[in-house]
Amino acid sequence: MASRDGGKRTHLGRDYIALEGDEAIFPIHSVIEQIGVAYTKSALSSIHLRGVGEHRGLIAKVLYVGCEHQAGYEGRVGERLGTVQSLQEKYPGITNHVHLEVMATVDPEGLMEGAHVEFGGSLK
Ligand SMILES: [Zn+2]
Repeated sequence: MASRDGGKRTHLGRDYIALEGDEAIFPIHSVIEQIGVAYTKSALSSIHLRGVGEHRGLIAKVLYVGCEHQAGYEGRVGERLGTVQSLQEKYPGITNHVHLEVMATVDPEGLMEGAHVEFGGSLK
Protein backbone atom coordinates (compact mmCIF):
# COMPACT_ATOMS: atom_id res chain seq x y z
CA MET A 1 0.00 0.00 0.00
CA ALA A 2 1.44 3.39 -0.95
CA SER A 3 0.84 6.49 1.10
CA ARG A 4 -1.34 8.89 -0.81
CA ASP A 5 -0.01 12.11 0.57
CA GLY A 6 3.01 11.27 2.70
CA GLY A 7 0.97 12.05 5.80
CA LYS A 8 0.89 15.77 5.06
CA ARG A 9 -2.83 16.19 5.56
CA THR A 10 -4.00 17.48 8.90
CA HIS A 11 -5.96 14.44 10.02
CA LEU A 12 -4.00 12.21 12.34
CA GLY A 13 -3.84 9.24 10.11
CA ARG A 14 -2.61 8.03 6.81
CA ASP A 15 -4.50 7.20 3.67
CA TYR A 16 -3.32 4.30 1.55
CA ILE A 17 -4.43 4.14 -2.04
CA ALA A 18 -6.23 0.88 -2.68
CA LEU A 19 -8.74 -0.48 -5.13
CA GLU A 20 -12.04 -1.96 -4.08
CA GLY A 21 -11.50 -5.64 -3.37
CA ASP A 22 -7.78 -5.31 -2.67
CA GLU A 23 -6.49 -7.32 0.26
CA ALA A 24 -6.08 -5.34 3.50
CA ILE A 25 -3.76 -6.60 6.21
CA PHE A 26 -3.40 -6.24 9.97
CA PRO A 27 -1.23 -3.11 10.49
CA ILE A 28 -0.23 -4.18 14.00
CA HIS A 29 -0.26 -7.44 15.98
CA SER A 30 -3.65 -7.07 17.56
CA VAL A 31 -7.03 -8.38 18.60
CA ILE A 32 -10.13 -7.11 16.81
CA GLU A 33 -11.94 -5.19 19.51
CA GLN A 34 -14.89 -3.83 17.58
CA ILE A 35 -16.27 -3.80 14.06
CA GLY A 36 -18.62 -0.91 13.36
CA VAL A 37 -19.57 1.58 10.70
CA ALA A 38 -17.46 4.56 9.64
CA TYR A 39 -20.52 6.80 9.35
CA THR A 40 -24.14 6.60 10.38
CA LYS A 41 -26.24 4.71 7.85
CA SER A 42 -23.13 3.76 5.93
CA ALA A 43 -21.96 0.38 4.70
CA LEU A 44 -18.37 1.56 5.15
CA SER A 45 -16.62 -0.16 8.04
CA SER A 46 -14.57 0.99 10.98
CA ILE A 47 -12.39 -1.64 12.64
CA HIS A 48 -10.83 -1.09 16.06
CA LEU A 49 -7.72 -3.09 16.87
CA ARG A 50 -6.08 -3.47 20.29
CA GLY A 51 -2.38 -4.19 20.13
CA VAL A 52 -1.02 -7.29 21.81
CA GLY A 53 2.41 -8.89 22.10
CA GLU A 54 5.09 -6.58 20.72
CA HIS A 55 2.37 -4.00 19.95
CA ARG A 56 0.76 -3.98 23.38
CA GLY A 57 -0.31 -0.42 24.26
CA LEU A 58 -1.17 0.52 20.67
CA ILE A 59 -4.68 1.01 19.35
CA ALA A 60 -5.44 1.17 15.63
CA LYS A 61 -8.49 2.28 13.72
CA VAL A 62 -8.92 1.06 10.15
CA LEU A 63 -11.58 2.63 7.96
CA TYR A 64 -13.07 1.33 4.70
CA VAL A 65 -12.11 -2.33 5.03
CA GLY A 66 -14.68 -5.09 5.09
CA CYS A 67 -13.50 -7.32 7.94
CA GLU A 68 -13.35 -11.06 7.36
CA HIS A 69 -13.07 -11.99 11.03
CA GLN A 70 -15.19 -11.73 14.16
CA ALA A 71 -14.41 -9.46 17.09
CA GLY A 72 -11.91 -11.21 19.34
CA TYR A 73 -9.82 -12.56 16.49
CA GLU A 74 -6.06 -12.08 16.90
CA GLY A 75 -3.98 -11.29 13.83
CA ARG A 76 -0.32 -10.64 13.24
CA VAL A 77 1.17 -7.89 11.08
CA GLY A 78 0.64 -8.73 7.44
CA GLU A 79 -2.09 -11.27 8.06
CA ARG A 80 -5.21 -10.78 5.99
CA LEU A 81 -7.76 -8.53 7.70
CA GLY A 82 -10.31 -8.21 4.92
CA THR A 83 -10.94 -6.46 1.63
CA VAL A 84 -10.95 -2.78 0.69
CA GLN A 85 -14.35 -1.19 0.27
CA SER A 86 -15.43 1.32 -2.37
CA LEU A 87 -15.72 4.98 -1.35
CA GLN A 88 -17.37 6.02 -4.57
CA GLU A 89 -20.92 6.02 -3.25
CA LYS A 90 -20.01 8.22 -0.28
CA TYR A 91 -17.40 10.38 -2.05
CA PRO A 92 -17.91 10.17 -5.81
CA GLY A 93 -14.64 10.59 -7.70
CA ILE A 94 -12.37 10.32 -4.67
CA THR A 95 -9.18 8.27 -4.93
CA ASN A 96 -10.15 5.01 -3.29
CA HIS A 97 -8.18 4.42 -0.10
CA VAL A 98 -7.90 2.85 3.33
CA HIS A 99 -7.61 5.22 6.28
CA LEU A 100 -5.38 4.13 9.17
CA GLU A 101 -4.88 5.73 12.56
CA VAL A 102 -2.61 4.39 15.29
CA MET A 103 -2.72 5.62 18.87
CA ALA A 104 -0.45 4.77 21.78
CA THR A 105 -1.59 4.37 25.36
CA VAL A 106 0.73 4.74 28.33
CA ASP A 107 0.72 3.57 31.93
CA PRO A 108 -0.69 6.55 33.87
CA GLU A 109 1.50 5.74 36.85
CA GLY A 110 3.88 8.67 37.37
CA LEU A 111 2.15 11.17 35.07
CA MET A 112 0.72 13.20 37.96
CA GLU A 113 3.74 13.19 40.24
CA GLY A 114 3.91 16.39 42.22
CA ALA A 115 0.47 17.55 41.11
CA HIS A 116 -1.14 16.64 44.43
CA VAL A 117 -4.01 14.90 42.67
CA GLU A 118 -5.97 12.54 44.88
CA PHE A 119 -8.36 10.11 43.28
CA GLY A 120 -9.11 8.50 46.61
CA GLY A 121 -10.76 5.19 47.16
CA SER A 122 -9.38 1.92 46.00
CA LEU A 123 -10.38 -0.73 43.54
CA LYS A 124 -9.53 -3.44 46.05
ZN1 LIG B 1 -7.94 9.53 5.88
